[in-house]
Amino acid sequence: MLEGELREIGLEDIGLDDQGFLFATLPGNVPEAPVFGLLAHLDTSPDAPGAGVEPIVHRDYDGGRIELPRGGTVLDPERMPELAARAGHDLITSSGDTLLGADDKAGVAEVVTAVAHLAAHPELPRATVRVGFTPDEEVGLGGTRFDLERFGAPCAYTLDGSEPGELQDETFSALAAEITIEGVAVHPGFATGKLVNATRLAARIVAALPAELTPERTRDREGFIHVQRTEATAERAVISAIVRDFDEDALAAHAALLRRTAEAIVAEEPRARVQVAITRQYTNMRRHLDAHPEVVAAAEEAMRREGHAPRRVPIRGGTDGSILSARGLPTPNLFTGGHEFHSTREWASVQEMAAAAAVAVRLAQVWAEA
Ligand SMILES: [Zn+2]
Repeated sequence: MLEGELREIGLEDIGLDDQGFLFATLPGNVPEAPVFGLLAHLDTSPDAPGAGVEPIVHRDYDGGRIELPRGGTVLDPERMPELAARAGHDLITSSGDTLLGADDKAGVAEVVTAVAHLAAHPELPRATVRVGFTPDEEVGLGGTRFDLERFGAPCAYTLDGSEPGELQDETFSALAAEITIEGVAVHPGFATGKLVNATRLAARIVAALPAELTPERTRDREGFIHVQRTEATAERAVISAIVRDFDEDALAAHAALLRRTAEAIVAEEPRARVQVAITRQYTNMRRHLDAHPEVVAAAEEAMRREGHAPRRVPIRGGTDGSILSARGLPTPNLFTGGHEFHSTREWASVQEMAAAAAVAVRLAQVWAEA
């Protein structure tokens, strides 16, 4: 559907590959201007149902409670200050029992709107825009299978943030840890002196991790160790955790603490075995973006021209841009006007979506002057 829309708008080099990546080009009209990219992800979060979405438009929102028709879902401005601030906007919500999917269909709509506007206004000076729509962002794989060579632009912007003026040039650095404990299983009736219960060892490890180093007790630039899942029997227990920090040294220290804790507790029982496997998920994109300051500067300039005071906010998570920036395509993240992502309370402001599309149009102008 999107491919057809891009063709109708008049984009060129439209290509959908077998991995589900859709790329297309809007040629520029200023000779020698560089190419830049606009990206949005097509997939939505698995945290709430995403099928059969029936969006509702609430025109000229009155600032009060919004009761959605299904699922007993209520958007309460008393508990959602961002919502309270949008009285007078036209809001879009789901019907209450699904995601809206504004993360990141708002971004998709804004990228398409921006190139459609530019294509319809050839009098506006513009750089060549390469657009890209990606799958699998929510499971952290979109960036890994993105064909950089086929995309071809030297820098890009993902439209995947929230509040107007937000410009994200920093994400967590991320590790995944898997701790496997082998115990000795014996029938409990004959277990005296023989049973080594891996479940009890796993519980002791989890309990020994510092409570102040958890997602529920940290904020802003603080990192954490988050135990996501434990699967345990007497014979074998597997603890799956994620480790996050903005700083690489602090990240390594959290990972070392996790390893030390697991090994020390299991070492008290010589018949048990423990294995700690730590793998990289993504890296803070700041370091990679700092090498290309003109990319973030262009976004700040585009926002200023649209009347926004750009704010650099670190993301306590990852985005396609963290993987793409590490792979050599510097890609900061811009706002979309969507809010309460990954829940049935997800909503978006039509006016802020238009503002995001307008920033993308300005980016084409800023790059045309480069
Ligand atoms: Zn997203």
